[in-house]
Amino acid sequence: MAKTRPTRNRQAKTRRADNAGDTAHHGLPIHEVVLLLGTDAARGLGPDEVARRRPQFGANELPRAHGPGIARKLGRQFNNPLVYVLLAAGMVTVFLGEFLDSAVILAVVLVNTLIGFIQEVRAEAALDALHSLVRTRAAVMRGGERKQVPSEDLVPGDLVLLGAGDKVPADLRLVRLSALRVDESALTGESDPVSKDEVVLPRLTAVADRRNMLYSGTLVTAGSGAGIVVAIGGETELGEIHRLMGTVQPAATPLTLKLARFSSTLTVAILALAAVAFLAGVARGEQPGQMFTAAVALAVGAIPEGLPAAVTVTLAIGVRRMARRRAVVRRLPVVETLGSTTVICSDKTGTFTENQMTVRSVWTPSGTYDVTGSGYGPEGHIRPAAGGERQADTATPTREIEDEALRVCLLGGAACNDSAVRREGSSWQVRGDPTEAAMLVAAGKGGIIVSDFLAANPRGAELPFTSERQFMATLHASTHPSGGGTVFAKGAVERVLDLCRGEMGADGDTRPLRRHVVLNAAHAFADSGLRVLATATMSLPVAGGSLAAAELRGRMTFTGLQAMQDPPRQAAAASVQACQQAGVAVKMITGDHVRTAVTVAAAVGLAADSAAGTALTGEELDAIPAGEFPDAVERATVFARVSPEQKLRLIRALQARGHVAAMTGDGVNDAPALRQANVGISMGRTGTEVAKEASDIVLTDDDFATIEAAVEEGRNVFDNLTKFIVWTLPTNMAEGLVILVAIVLGAALPILPTQILWINMTTAVALGLMLAFEPKEPGLMSRPPRAPGRPLLTWALTVRILLVSALLVAGTWWLFDHELNNGATVAEARTSSVNLFVAVEVFYLFSCRSLVRPAWRTGPFGNRWLLAGVLVQGAGQLALTYTPLMNDLFHTAPIGPDAWLRIFGLALAASLVVGVDKRLRRQGF
Ligand code: ATP
Repeated sequence: MAKTRPTRNRQAKTRRADNAGDTAHHGLPIHEVVLLLGTDAARGLGPDEVARRRPQFGANELPRAHGPGIARKLGRQFNNPLVYVLLAAGMVTVFLGEFLDSAVILAVVLVNTLIGFIQEVRAEAALDALHSLVRTRAAVMRGGERKQVPSEDLVPGDLVLLGAGDKVPADLRLVRLSALRVDESALTGESDPVSKDEVVLPRLTAVADRRNMLYSGTLVTAGSGAGIVVAIGGETELGEIHRLMGTVQPAATPLTLKLARFSSTLTVAILALAAVAFLAGVARGEQPGQMFTAAVALAVGAIPEGLPAAVTVTLAIGVRRMARRRAVVRRLPVVETLGSTTVICSDKTGTFTENQMTVRSVWTPSGTYDVTGSGYGPEGHIRPAAGGERQADTATPTREIEDEALRVCLLGGAACNDSAVRREGSSWQVRGDPTEAAMLVAAGKGGIIVSDFLAANPRGAELPFTSERQFMATLHASTHPSGGGTVFAKGAVERVLDLCRGEMGADGDTRPLRRHVVLNAAHAFADSGLRVLATATMSLPVAGGSLAAAELRGRMTFTGLQAMQDPPRQAAAASVQACQQAGVAVKMITGDHVRTAVTVAAAVGLAADSAAGTALTGEELDAIPAGEFPDAVERATVFARVSPEQKLRLIRALQARGHVAAMTGDGVNDAPALRQANVGISMGRTGTEVAKEASDIVLTDDDFATIEAAVEEGRNVFDNLTKFIVWTLPTNMAEGLVILVAIVLGAALPILPTQILWINMTTAVALGLMLAFEPKEPGLMSRPPRAPGRPLLTWALTVRILLVSALLVAGTWWLFDHELNNGATVAEARTSSVNLFVAVEVFYLFSCRSLVRPAWRTGPFGNRWLLAGVLVQGAGQLALTYTPLMNDLFHTAPIGPDAWLRIFGLALAASLVVGVDKRLRRQGF
C-alpha cells in the first residue's frame, strides 16, 4: 500500500522536495498513481479504507489562518495616540509625586487595552465563524457508488467527480476528463481558464503547467472529469499559499477606514490644541503642573478613542444577525452596500418559487394528458385530459398510452436526465435538478421503466444542459447486434423546436412539424404559470461516439411538451411588497419562458406585461438600441430567456442609471454579473461553487425573503452605527470644551483627567456598545434607500450633537459653580460634574435608541442589554461617589441628595430640549 502517502505534519520543504521527487503525481502514469495511493480509478476507495485513512490524515481543511498572535494583538492596542498621552501623563504624575494618579492612569491604560483586545478578538471570531456556514460538498466514487460528501471528509486516494461549476476540493491527479476547463486564478493569478488532459508530464513541470492535475480551490468552468486525491488540507498547493500568507483579512470596510482616518485626524488636531493650551497657559504664568493636567484632560476628553472599535463591533453584530437570517456575508464591505441597495434582480426558479417541480400535463401532437399525484412520490397516473385537445383518430380514454409520442416524450425526458429520486424515510428526496427529477417521476407514472431502456441502450455521449444552450441531449447506443442509436433532447420549447423538422404522430410516424400549434400549446401552459419543456428524438443507423448541437439541428422529431408546476414561495409576495415599500425595485431575471415568468411574477406581486414593455425577452433586449437600453431596463420588471451575458449588460445599465444593484446568480456563467453587481448574491443550496466564489453574500436557503432580510439588516447596521456616533460625540466634545473654558478662564477644572477617563471608559462599554444590540426600528423598511455617498451624520444630527454638547458644557459649569458657591468642596463639586455627565449620557442614550421617534415611544424593554448596562453604570456611579477607595483613586467625594436632585433635574431638562429638537426635526430626517 502507499508508503509515500503525504502526511499532514510533514514540513513544507520536505513536501516540495517530494513533489519534485517520487510523489510528483503529474509525472506518473495513472496506474502508478493508483498503486501509490492504494485506490481504484473506477470504483474509488471502499468505505472501510476511507474510515481507516480519515484519522490518519485528518480533515481536509486549510489550517486556520492566524491573524497576528495574541501578544501582537495586545501590543497593537498600545499603539494609539491616546495611550501615548496617558503614558506621558502617568510619567509626569510620577515625577510630581502623585503616585495614586499614576496608578489610576496605568490601570486605565491596561483596562483599555484589554477591552480593545477582547473586542477585536470577538469581532474576528464572529466573522471567522461565518466561513464554516458555507460548506462545500464533493461528489466521490466510494466502493463503486457515487456519493456526495462534505469536502472535509476527503482522504488521499479518494476518487472525486467534478463538473462545470464545481470547486476543486483537494489536489487531484486526473484519471478521466471530457473537455475540462479550469479557472486556476486563485492559484496562478492567470484569469483565463486552462484546458486539462491526462498525459504524463515531466517531473519538473511548474504547477501552472501541470495539465493533468487539478488543484484545491480552483474552479471548473466547463466539461467534466474525475481525479484521485493526492493531497488534502494544508498539504495542497493552496495550503502552501495560505501558510506563506498566514494572515486573515482585517475586518475593514470603506466606512470603517473612513472613520478610523477621521478619528486619527481629530486626534492629531486635539493633541495640537492641547499643546497650544498648555504653552499659552504657561506663558500666561499658570503653574506648569496644573496646565499639564488641564492639557491631558483636554486630550483625553476630546479624543473619540472608542469610535473605530465600536464600528467594528456593530458591523460584526450585523453580520452575525444576517447569518442567523440565513444570509452569509462573504465580503464585509457589502454590509454597507446592502443598506443603499435600490434594485434587486432575482432569479425566478428557487428564489421566488420553491423549486419543487411536478409535471401536471403532457401535450403531444395527438393529445393532452393530465398527470395526477404530487411531489416526487411515484403515486399518480397519466390520463387524457378532460376536454383536452384530442384528434378524433387517436387517443381515447382507454387507449391513451397507445400514443407513441407520449411514450417517447416520457422516455426521452427520463433518459436524457441526470437526476435521481430516492426514498429517504417517509419522503422522496431529489438528487440533481428538480426539473429533471419531475420528468423522471412523470415517466414512472406513465409506466416507463427507464432503467430497462438504459440497460439496452447505455448513454454514449451527451450535450449537458447550459443556460446558454437551453437544452440537453443524450446519445444512446443500442447493445443489440444490429447496432444503431437514439438521440433524445429536452429543453426550452423554442430551442428544441429549432432542432426539429417533424413531429411524432400517435402511431410513431413522423409528419411535418406544426411549429405554431406546438407554440400555442406551450403558451397556454405558460399562461397558467407552468414551466414547459419540449422533448424530441432522433434515430441513428450507427451510433457514433460524440454529439454536436450542429448535427442535431433540423433533424430531430418533436415528441411532446411536459408542463410542470413550481409553486411560488409563501413569503415571496410579502417580501416583494416590503422591498417596494422600502424604495427598492424588484426585478425578475429568468431563463424561463416570458409567459411563465409573467404569471409567476404576478403571483408574487410584480406587475409585468409584455405589451407594456414591462416584460422583456432576451431577444427583445438585444433589439433595443444602445441609447434606449438603460431606460427600457429601468421600466421592465421581468426579463425572460435571458442569457448570463445579458445579465451582465442589465446590471451595467442599471448602474449607469445610478442604481445600487443586487443580483442573484447560480451558474458558472453568472460569475461576471455577480462580480459586477454591487451586491452579488449566490444560492447556498443550488448554486455552483463558481457563483459562490464570485458573490458577496450566500443565501443558505435560496429564498427571496432572505435577500429582503439582508437589506433590512444592512440598514439596521447603519442605523445603529449612526446612533452610537450621535450618542458618543457630544460627550467627547463637551469634555474637551469644559476643559478649554477652564483653561481660557484660568479657573479650576470641573472634571479631572482621571475622572474623564472614568466617564469615557465606563460609559462606552456599559452604555454605548449596547446600542449595537438595538432591534430595528419600525420605519426601517419604509424609508428610501440611503444614498451611497451620504455622510453618516445628516445636518439635523450634527445640530443635535452640537446641541447636546452645549447643554453639557453649560450644565456642568452651572452645577460646578453652584455647588462651590453653596459651600461644597472642589472634590464634591467635581463629583457632581462627573455624575451629571453620566446622567445626561444615560438619558440621552434612551433618546438615541431612535434617531427620529421620541424616547418614550421606543418601549423601555426593547433592548435588555441596554437596561442591564444602565444598571451596571448606576452601580459604578454609586461606588465612585460613596466608597472611600474610589474617592481616593478618583478624587471624588460623597454628595448629598440635593446635589442628586440638581443632577437629575439638569439631565431631565437636557432630555426635554433634545426631545423638542427631535420633534422639530422629525420631518427633516
Ligand atoms: P431561473 O433563471 O429563474 O433560475 P430557469 O431555471 O428557467 O430560471 P435556466 O436554468 O437558465 O433558467 O433554464 C432555462 C430554460 O432551459 C428553462 O426554462 C427550461 O426550459 C430549460 N431547462 C432548464 N433546466 C433544464 C434541464 N435540466 N434540461 C433541459 N432543459 C432545461
